[in-house]
Amino acid sequence: MKDQIDEIFQRAKEGKALFQDRKALSPEYIPENLPFRTKQISEVAEVLAPALHQSKPSNLLLYGKTGTGKTAVARRVVQRLAEQSNGTIQTPYVNTRIVGTEYRTLSEIAAQLGIEVPFTGLSIGELVSRIFKGIQSKGANVVLVLDEIDYLVNAYNDDILYEFTRAGERITPGFLSLIGISNNLTFKEGLDPRVLSSLGEEELVFPPYTTEELRSILSERSAVAFRPDAVPETTINLCAALAGSEHGDARRAVDLLRVAGEVAEREGLPQVDEACLRKASDKVERDRIQEALSTLPLQNKIIILAASKFASGSNTGELYLAYTNLARKSGVEVLTQRRVSGILAELDLLGLIEATVVSKGRRGRTKRIKILIDDETIARVARGDAQLLDVL
Ligand code: ADP
Ligand code: MG
Repeated sequence: MKDQIDEIFQRAKEGKALFQDRKALSPEYIPENLPFRTKQISEVAEVLAPALHQSKPSNLLLYGKTGTGKTAVARRVVQRLAEQSNGTIQTPYVNTRIVGTEYRTLSEIAAQLGIEVPFTGLSIGELVSRIFKGIQSKGANVVLVLDEIDYLVNAYNDDILYEFTRAGERITPGFLSLIGISNNLTFKEGLDPRVLSSLGEEELVFPPYTTEELRSILSERSAVAFRPDAVPETTINLCAALAGSEHGDARRAVDLLRVAGEVAEREGLPQVDEACLRKASDKVERDRIQEALSTLPLQNKIIILAASKFASGSNTGELYLAYTNLARKSGVEVLTQRRVSGILAELDLLGLIEATVVSKGRRGRTKRIKILIDDETIARVARGDAQLLDVL
């Protein structure tokens, strides 16, 4: 009897002890070492170095796919720059996708620079000019990191970017340099040429990691995060292979490992085995889709809802009709078929729908649209959106 009880508790204790530093797998954690990025780190550092003798560094554009280390590299280098300057260089950091609106992006920058602005009520132009005046009146030296900058540009326009990239010419004393980061490789194409020539004074591309590189990144990280022996090498290998299968995405790799660890912990296992990893992979994929869905603009969600009415796929005409009905019901503007086609192409890129071109013989070609999300996920997202609730 005693042995049996002890065995259960022993298992629970071991299960608990799987992690030794859980934070090391959180999205905010920046590892001390960033292997395979020495070239990018030194290039970013070279570009920023003039800041240490009060010269304005060139603006810098970093781009590459998700999980290629852009955020980690940029944050690590600006952190060191701020330290080396003994705090005389300020390095505000804003992820424009996470903060959401143009206004919030600007007020977040102001807050990090210690410039007071009201929470609402100012025009965008006024906010920008208060930030510039604030920097100028303090003669501040600022290297601003705008992460996932494409959200700022797509959702509105590139006016603020224009203002910011040109700021260097208007501010004296002090300076404002910009590091823009984009996960979108075609980001540059949509930019105003003036913004591009200024923002892209220096450019750096982050290539995807190879599976072998992911493997090495993962084993380093797992050694910090987990107790020794908690993660067998086979698990690391599979994790790297799963994350590397689409493109070498270190974020996906680290997420998978964290979720697999949580699965193992919940099940009271002594090790994170391959079965945990497979379960984690399903969950991460579901979460990814839900996250992608929930951050879409209302019109895109309505198009998804319309597409979900055709379980076995629809052609563009049918889909447009269904969309029109739903859009009317929810009281939003009904977009033209052309706009809807444009949005469908974006949804295809996000992997939420699949559009295939089919030939109709002499009557030309059409697209067959198939939804790639299960009904339950769609319903869950729709329930979380007040305007869509009415439609349902
Ligand atoms: P991106 O901004 O390009 O999407 P991140 O910098 O956020 O990618 O990196 C994603 C995850 O992978 C983070 O947890 C980060 O710490 C980790 N990571 C990325 N590159 C490396 C690397 N070279 N070494 C160790 N960890 C890395
Ligand atoms: Mg990033």
